[in-house]
Amino acid sequence: MKISIVGTGYVGLVTGTCFSEVGIDVTCVDIDKKKIDDLNNGIIPIYEPGLDDMVTRNMEKERLHFTTSIQKALEECEVIFIAVGTPPDEDGSADLQYVISVARNIGKYMKDYLLVVTKSTVPVGTAPKVRAAIEEELAARGAKIEFDVASNPEFLKEGAAVDDFLKPDRIVIGLESKRAEELMQRLYKPFTLNGHPVIFMDITSAELTKYAANSMLATKISFMNDIANLCEIVGANVNMVRKGIGSDTRIGSKFIYPGVGYGGSCFPKDVKALIKTARDYEYPLRVLQAVEEVNDHQKMVMFHKIKKHFGNDLKGRTIGMWGLSFKPNTDDMREAPALVLIHELVAAGATVKAYDPVAIPETQRIIGDKITYAKDMYDAIDGADCLLMVTEWPEFRFPDFTEVKKLLKNHVIFDGRNIYDVKEMEEQGFTYYCIGINTSRI
Ligand code: NAD
Repeated sequence: MKISIVGTGYVGLVTGTCFSEVGIDVTCVDIDKKKIDDLNNGIIPIYEPGLDDMVTRNMEKERLHFTTSIQKALEECEVIFIAVGTPPDEDGSADLQYVISVARNIGKYMKDYLLVVTKSTVPVGTAPKVRAAIEEELAARGAKIEFDVASNPEFLKEGAAVDDFLKPDRIVIGLESKRAEELMQRLYKPFTLNGHPVIFMDITSAELTKYAANSMLATKISFMNDIANLCEIVGANVNMVRKGIGSDTRIGSKFIYPGVGYGGSCFPKDVKALIKTARDYEYPLRVLQAVEEVNDHQKMVMFHKIKKHFGNDLKGRTIGMWGLSFKPNTDDMREAPALVLIHELVAAGATVKAYDPVAIPETQRIIGDKITYAKDMYDAIDGADCLLMVTEWPEFRFPDFTEVKKLLKNHVIFDGRNIYDVKEMEEQGFTYYCIGINTSRI
């Protein structure tokens, strides 16, 4: 079987590589020539655990190819996935220009029957637009070629993307023809043999499922952050409350950790886009509007704590920051809370010295020399006025606190992820701030 993936980013590259891993001949296409040249030279453009080896192995077996030519990718291709970005437009809606541009190119160059599958996260009503763009291009060249469209939203998590793709909780597929269903069954069979379910549905439901899933997860995070802030006011301990509610199987223990707010390439934009879709249908999604509001507030919580601690004056202060990426195990900086914190701290006159195991090059690309970059976690706090923990990378979990004390000018820790123990921090002689526990009352 021969398939192609258009868009070789986090989703496209992982999807293409994992399909090739099970023996399918895959061509990945991207308009970014440098990215394709790098991949052809064995340079992987993103940090994703386990991906490098898999790309190399499948390139060597000659079943994973990279090109900038969609014409080449369409040769003998049975299924083509669209996995390009759908960034937020100014009004919050998903910008579909890249998806539609790919659909047009497909219409221009396809030669035989094709199943066109949208894997990008796209709003309800996108499939008919993809169909129309392809039909227009076919009509323009007087071609009559049958094709199907389908929706196959992706649920992988950055940082665990390869595993998520190979062993998915579920695969959601929206389609409207038997032929498309048979093709998708065949394609996903290697990933579902162990019982991982494929859920077939209509296209509109599949498109909405992706947004509903991300919005539900964002809701859990914002809900817990709101409760955490209340915990601080009333003198409760959010870690206890979290354990207390998480043990209820109807609630579950995942995604109820308070922190510095959600970020990343998906939650912020997908929550916005779903609010916008609902508004277009004149239905206000009240819960999601509040989820966004809480998240915007939450990204500022640590900044306010730092400012208050230093008597509302951060001029001349140095903040040693641990972690930049929006979560561990990725170099993705899109909508990372660290960027908001950096912006506020620098605007208030502070200097930020940051360390992240993999996201420094990407941060440098986005904000340049707005901050100083440290060579390791201890270098970041050498001479700093405080430590600010932003991303809970494993290596930050058990630091040498004697060394931390030696390096910090003031023994103050702001823990934006609640990874340290309040009692231990006090025993070590630190002034310790976290989320959802008013440590000054303890
Ligand atoms: P990305 O920005 O990492 O990659 C998109 C790629 O598409 C880029 O390499 C870009 O050069 C390429 N591209 C743009 N226009 C093109 C065109 N006309 N032809 C060929 N290539 C083109 O994006 P991503 O994070 O992989 O996300 C892709 C989609 O998947 C988005 O809709 C996103 O919401 C969704 N998604 C992302 C994740 C995630 O964790 N990143 C998870 C699930 C779903």
